[in-house]
Amino acid sequence: MKTKGIVTGIVSNLVTVQVDGPVAENEICYILSGGTKLMAEVIKVNGNAASVQVFESTRGLKGGDTVEFEGKMLEITLGPGLLSSVYDGLQNNLATMTEVFLQRGEYTEPLDREKTWDFQPLAKPGDKVEAADWLGDVKEGWLPHKIMVPFSFRGAYTVKSVKEAGAYNVDTVIATLVSEAGEEVPVTMTQKWPVKLAVKGYKEKPRPNRIMETGVRVIDTMNPIAEGGTGFIPGPFGCGKTVLQHAIAKQGDADVIVMAACGERANEVVEIFTEFPQLIDPHTGRHLMERTTIICNTSNMPVAAREASVYTAMTICEYYRAMGLKCLLLADSTSRWAQALREMSNRMEELPGADAFPVDLSAIISNFYARAGMVVLNNGQTGAVTFIGTVSPAGGNLKEPVTESTKKAARCFYALEQNRADQKRYPAVGPLDSYSKYLDYPEIVAYLDQTVEHGWVEKVLHAKNVIRRGKEAAEQINILGDDGVPMSYHVNFWKSELVDFVILQQDAFDAIDALCPLERQRFMLDLVLEICDKDYEFEDFEKCRDFFKNLINELRQMNYSAWQSEQFEAYNNTIKQLIA
Ligand code: ADP
Ligand code: MG
Repeated sequence: MKTKGIVTGIVSNLVTVQVDGPVAENEICYILSGGTKLMAEVIKVNGNAASVQVFESTRGLKGGDTVEFEGKMLEITLGPGLLSSVYDGLQNNLATMTEVFLQRGEYTEPLDREKTWDFQPLAKPGDKVEAADWLGDVKEGWLPHKIMVPFSFRGAYTVKSVKEAGAYNVDTVIATLVSEAGEEVPVTMTQKWPVKLAVKGYKEKPRPNRIMETGVRVIDTMNPIAEGGTGFIPGPFGCGKTVLQHAIAKQGDADVIVMAACGERANEVVEIFTEFPQLIDPHTGRHLMERTTIICNTSNMPVAAREASVYTAMTICEYYRAMGLKCLLLADSTSRWAQALREMSNRMEELPGADAFPVDLSAIISNFYARAGMVVLNNGQTGAVTFIGTVSPAGGNLKEPVTESTKKAARCFYALEQNRADQKRYPAVGPLDSYSKYLDYPEIVAYLDQTVEHGWVEKVLHAKNVIRRGKEAAEQINILGDDGVPMSYHVNFWKSELVDFVILQQDAFDAIDALCPLERQRFMLDLVLEICDKDYEFEDFEKCRDFFKNLINELRQMNYSAWQSEQFEAYNNTIKQLIA
């Protein structure tokens, strides 16, 4: 028998319920009010009083309304058809909705139940299997979508039968398994999973050992992110967080991309809807949407579902990771999610932590980041979830709790700086404060040695040093004046400007410059360092400035020319002559 309850108090979307049976934290319930059924999640239980957060507007709710508890956590449906879909945080399919926004209390089917998929069996009768093992696959776009033993299955099973190859809809029983206790269980193409629990079903989670190419120089060259790694982009409003994330979404070397638009402006999401279907994936030549799922919970949608949206997005990534795929999760912005947690914690009158965020904010964020990673599946193949979130610290204050907590959890830090954005030095990632801890991983250093160039990491550190020296020189020039410092200060300053303009800056809106493959990044860094490693003599600082400005101009033109085109080579020759 399901537990029932009645509404006893309402504070915005926090509702207290008196219950007649057992309920658990994170359990889902429905409040029946005036003909609508509103979904809510239990956040605290105290005796026979439960506090629940309603995922929608509580307008019209009143004391005495009936509540039905589901006895399970917020779950989503996993199966073929997730890709190219647009969902809200509760996995309502926003493409099938009748109006621009879902009506209150309207919940939709996440997957197309009629559509048939070409199934190929992978397992055979007698095979021993466990959770997440592959039973067969269907083609979802061009990806082999594995139909797996549901993640919730515990222990060993024996395959009794598997459907032969053919076209079936997602509800078809494609295999029957027998548990050790002799119980027969049917498996269809879909399964459910509670979003707040990390999906297990893999053998181990080793340290990442290769990088994920993004085509963005400030990331790949300066502070690379590992495949299965974590990173975050903090930055004040308007500094380019969303543009940078979209660039990564378009170009990132991943099989599956899940974008969670969390609490940001709706027009940005509409931009994705209109732009992405037109775009082509540079790695496969297929439509970008074929590998993309969008979870959106924009600023005009209910605040409580923000939390659900990031967990839903992560769960979808973990699902595809279990198929041996490389997945990339992008969440914009995790601060909006944290703000939703804060609102709720304040309504519950919990003892507040720093800046009134919940005391366990750090743990919540770390646990979430910890779900990313590279895994070795039971069959020895690998899969990965790489996670990059944005953080929007109020006033650009990097000491605020969400940024600080995220810094502890994520291994790459791409800090967008207001002054760089003001000078239109995009992407505005600060070259000296940002970091990638993966540059300290011997596995990653060895990988870069092999795939990019021997001694690559030393070169990267060298480039950072050029920037650091240039910054020091600029400070001295500012204090002492152009004529008050030795010429070497001017040279150092301009060398760092060269690295800045040619390597760090990149136009996300230019057809060629937007995407810089790793091979090209290597070429450009080598060229820039060749220039920086030379000694130069100038009569006066103006000659020095003109010389470098000219070089920077040629190098920028190179960035805007097609890789290894005649034009590209022509600029390269000019540059070689200039520095000869
Ligand atoms: P945020 O998400 O941090 O509020 P946006 O990503 O919306 O900021 O960026 C604000 C504006 O900055 C963009 O509309 C664009 O004009 C400019 N911008 C940001 N990054 C770049 C880039 N890499 N190249 C060119 N313009 C950029
Ligand atoms: Mg933004």
